[in-house]
Amino acid sequence: MKDKTLLFQSALQCRNNAYAPYSEFKVGAAIKSSCGKIFGGCNVENISYPCGTCAEAGAISALIADGETAIAEILIVADTANILPCGNCLQKIAEFGTPDTLVHSADLNGNIKTYTLKQLLPNVFDAKEIKNA
Ligand SMILES: [Zn+2]
Repeated sequence: MKDKTLLFQSALQCRNNAYAPYSEFKVGAAIKSSCGKIFGGCNVENISYPCGTCAEAGAISALIADGETAIAEILIVADTANILPCGNCLQKIAEFGTPDTLVHSADLNGNIKTYTLKQLLPNVFDAKEIKNA
């Protein structure tokens, strides 16, 4: 519970800094690494929409930049009842997580729903697909 509170606070702080002038849909994310460190990210939009990045991608970049490679948990927060990572971000989370990695969805009031990665992405594309080719 304490960890989820820290993740929520970190993600919410990142969300406050989100750059979303076009959609006005600010999202924050926070990752707890397997070592227990927390890394945050926010969405960063661009006038050329495909150039924008999701909050999860920012948090993953911070994780990797710090030399870590394992996601234990990730929390995403937005002004909606059940924000979930997009398909692209689920694949990115899978690269550094496991099927049992916890994915928490939070609203601005701190109401949190928890899923496992395998619930959200049951048929992940992984390295086995390439190695068996
Ligand atoms: Zn995404």
